[in-house]
Amino acid sequence: MALNFFNTLTRSVEEFAPLDPAGKKVGMYCCGPTIHDSAHIGNFRTFVFADLVRRYLEFRGYTVRHVMNITDVEDKIIARVRAAGVSLKEYTGKYEAAFFADLQALGCQPPHDSPHATEFIPEIIALISALVVKGLAYQAPDGSVYFSIEKYRGCGCVYGQLLKLNLDELRVGERVRSDEYAKESVSDFALWKARVPEDGAVFWPSPWGEGRPGWHIECSAMSMKLLGPSFDLHLGGEDLVFPHHEDEIAQSEGAGWQAPGGRFVKHWMHGAHLLVEGKKMSKTLGNFFVLKDLTGQGFTGREIRYLLLSAHYRETFNFTLDGLRGARTALARIDECLAKLRELAAGATAAAAAGDLPAAFQAALDEDLNVAGAWGAVFEWVRETNRRLAEQRFTPAEAAAALAAWQVVDAVLGVGAAPAGEEAPAEIVALFEQRQAARKARDFAAADAVRNELKARGWVIEDTPKGARLKKV
Ligand SMILES: [Zn+2]
Repeated sequence: MALNFFNTLTRSVEEFAPLDPAGKKVGMYCCGPTIHDSAHIGNFRTFVFADLVRRYLEFRGYTVRHVMNITDVEDKIIARVRAAGVSLKEYTGKYEAAFFADLQALGCQPPHDSPHATEFIPEIIALISALVVKGLAYQAPDGSVYFSIEKYRGCGCVYGQLLKLNLDELRVGERVRSDEYAKESVSDFALWKARVPEDGAVFWPSPWGEGRPGWHIECSAMSMKLLGPSFDLHLGGEDLVFPHHEDEIAQSEGAGWQAPGGRFVKHWMHGAHLLVEGKKMSKTLGNFFVLKDLTGQGFTGREIRYLLLSAHYRETFNFTLDGLRGARTALARIDECLAKLRELAAGATAAAAAGDLPAAFQAALDEDLNVAGAWGAVFEWVRETNRRLAEQRFTPAEAAAALAAWQVVDAVLGVGAAPAGEEAPAEIVALFEQRQAARKARDFAAADAVRNELKARGWVIEDTPKGARLKKV
């Protein structure tokens, strides 16, 4: 069966076929964080989505090179550096470290490359130079270098490939120096920003004088350097469609480094927005969450990942604390089933057949990553497995095969399994051991008292044929 993805470029669901003639290698670029602050849960929806795409392509047998840039110089960062009175590196370093720790907590595979804009200044300058030579970029009286939309369109190129723009109605030809702007003000955008006093110590030499790159050119230069002038997949949040991705296309295709007829990117995929408790996230509404706000309330990265993966990437998703509690219950159902299988399988070699879970899972995800269908297949499998376990219709070898089937799909879902007992915090484990000791000493009153204490803290003790174990309620 074919793997189909929605392509923002053609606005339709298309069969995914990599540019690699052997049909094996896939180059994938996802716009990474701008490290001026902690990334919020809406940002992480995009990165978990990118992680799903990468893991699913690997499940489908592709060799993926996943690049996610780190924007470490841009308008907002410069403003924050100035306010904080520290160096650029000092300022961005701590947010970058926090970002990667959060990514790990959410079970995301680290990208193969995480290029920093500040380490690609020569490549950025080379790309701007190519645009100047072709007459598509010019230095304005303010010293900055701008991309000329008029000249680009004059070459027969289309500005407005991802987003339909009626350029006849928009006032084209003015200039915009800031990195973010609305489509109502389509304008020549800055590739190289001439140094101004507010930039402080953040500047580099260039053929156009001291300055710094614009945000859009950073992604064009880094992606083409690492993945080639034409690559397969470019991902990002839907808020990046315009102007960021539109400008990336204009710069990259304007330079003309692609083979004749080649595009900068074959498939564009965009993740939809996230609402929190039904509203757009805002600090004043109190629904603006960074990861530690949620882990501070006792939720795990795994529960947050599950919730972020529960909705289709192109649908606006309403992230709620109730949803997180639901994620906890859903994961507990999986964990419980896996624990029983593990107990039964102990040491057995898997029977050949892994069951139909991977096939049903694949059929769903092949359709533009239909995660609801994929989770449906998982929970149908959990139900059926539990039924067979209850009826004692599993041999140890079959239980081992069922676990192997789970591992195949979990390589994509990345929610793993909570090992029995191991997730309990140290004080809970200590209470558990106290209770075991009391029972051994036949002090049943003390054992019951500790059991009640554990229950009050949300943990129960399950007595199984292989001994007692802790279980979260
Ligand atoms: Zn980007």
